[in-house]
Amino acid sequence: MQKTIRIQLLPREATTDHIISEYAAQASGHSPKEITGFHILKRSIDARSKQPKIILTLQVFINEPFQQRAIQKIIFGDVSNAARKVIIVGAGPAGLFAALKLVESGIQPIILERGKTIRARRRDLALLNKEGIINPESNYCFGEGGAGTYSDGKLYTRSTKRGNVDRILNILVQFGAEENILYEAHPHIGTNKLPRIITAMHDQLIQSGAKVLFEKKVTDLIVQDQIIKGVKTADGNSFEADAVILATGHSARDIFHLLHEKKILIEFKPFALGVRIEHPQSLIDNIQYHCGPLGGLLPPAAYSLVEQIDHRGVFSFCMCPGGIIAPAATSSGELVVNGWSPSKRNNPFANSGIVVNIEEKDTKKFHSAGALAGLYFQQEVERKAFEYGGGKFVAPAQRMTDFVDGKISSSLPDCSYLPGIHSTSLREVLPGFVFESLRKAFVVFGKKMKGYYTNDAIIVATESRTSSPVRIPRNDRLQHPVIHNLYPCGEGAGYAGGIVSAAMDGERVAGVIAELLIC
Ligand SMILES: Cc1cc2nc3c(=O)[nH]c(=O)nc-3n(C[C@H](O)[C@H](O)[C@H](O)COP(=O)(O)OP(=O)(O)OC[C@H]3O[C@@H](n4cnc5c(N)ncnc54)[C@H](O)[C@@H]3O)c2cc1C
Repeated sequence: MQKTIRIQLLPREATTDHIISEYAAQASGHSPKEITGFHILKRSIDARSKQPKIILTLQVFINEPFQQRAIQKIIFGDVSNAARKVIIVGAGPAGLFAALKLVESGIQPIILERGKTIRARRRDLALLNKEGIINPESNYCFGEGGAGTYSDGKLYTRSTKRGNVDRILNILVQFGAEENILYEAHPHIGTNKLPRIITAMHDQLIQSGAKVLFEKKVTDLIVQDQIIKGVKTADGNSFEADAVILATGHSARDIFHLLHEKKILIEFKPFALGVRIEHPQSLIDNIQYHCGPLGGLLPPAAYSLVEQIDHRGVFSFCMCPGGIIAPAATSSGELVVNGWSPSKRNNPFANSGIVVNIEEKDTKKFHSAGALAGLYFQQEVERKAFEYGGGKFVAPAQRMTDFVDGKISSSLPDCSYLPGIHSTSLREVLPGFVFESLRKAFVVFGKKMKGYYTNDAIIVATESRTSSPVRIPRNDRLQHPVIHNLYPCGEGAGYAGGIVSAAMDGERVAGVIAELLIC
């Protein structure tokens, strides 16, 4: 017999299988001898009281042989001679998962990626972090695996309706992710482990006969009679196929400009913009756990904050316990920050984006740019952040209470951001309403989390690439409503906000294409 039960344990108890088994026996009304094993279906932490608890949902095997967890492996066939071909622009999570789904459906994907392979890309990131030199084609956003490769690798998503989250997690495990992502309430892979998983996906695609081409920047679309036939790349080549998936991410501004110039319908999309804040991790642990991380029995603590300030949403975004603030710009002269953490989350800092919702009415200044107004708004703030920083991607920064009090910080605490930080007034960098919303929100957040509002925290500008400021519309068959066989996909097109949702959107688009092409 198998039973699903839910138990609560102390953090120390949850590290030992035989204690879990004893609790399982008690909860299921059986003797410990009758329990032959269990699988963890869900694991979360309840830290609301002084004594944090681990909550486990278990599938318990009682009086029957225990069976190991079976990972459903997908078998990928050979599509090297497939009759149908689909171009995928962009090798981020949306593009890669679309490619795998096409292979599964017997269609040959041709991935065109502007950036470099993972290994070559790593050198460009080192140059950016150490020397402040950016390669506009190879950085934290562009290159194999897209923004996902050197991201934090948090896999939590709210968009369960848009596809099958478990399927995406299973595929990640098939390509080398640890099985705990299948049951953790807030699964996380870590920046150090993501590249290996992306490489395994690449290897599978090549082995299956897909084409994966790097340093192939798409610069034009070949459209005849409102039907897309293919694309042109910066090196003068052109590629043709039965359909084109546009999965270029939210930082491919040249693609938005291209669509706008070609009068291919795009729309303004609300997004969020603000700053990244960094506290000592020990401070966040003490606030969240009351008792600290119990010598490693609890993971470095995360937090999630949200508040309405003057009818505008202000919220924490992409919180990285034990993390690093990263330079996530894609061009020189623009400063963008984001965050990541290694799988162990063992850096001494906790960083998080704190961002403010931006609506179309806020971008009136750029009204004449039409659908690109949000993009110009974003870019202006990024340019100011660069200008008020210390050059070479040294970021403008201010201590937290100094920010609220309008004082330039006379000194700055240690910060994880590798290019370095420069003390300045962030009021000069941020649009007035963003600055005011953040100021008020920080004080409220300090009341919600006692100790959060402190001059030991550092605020770094600017967190501007939270999601795409543009939507590329699509109809109920997921095609562009005007250009047939063009499939806008993933975060850049406005249909995802993270690794898992981008991957799900990639699968969904590829699934629709397969239905149309294979029938
Ligand atoms: C530092 C950092 C940390 C993050 N942490 C997390 C996290 O913990 N959890 C989470 O869910 N999300 C995180 N994200 C966001 C996540 O990475 C993105 O949501 C996700 O990668 C979007 O997937 P995508 O495939 O839609 O686009 P992208 O990943 O942006 O991929 C788009 C790809 O298209 C390519 N491309 C662009 N233009 C062209 C062109 N003209 N021709 C050819 N190729 C082109 C780009 O080079 C890129 O490889 C993080 C992002 C960053 C930068």
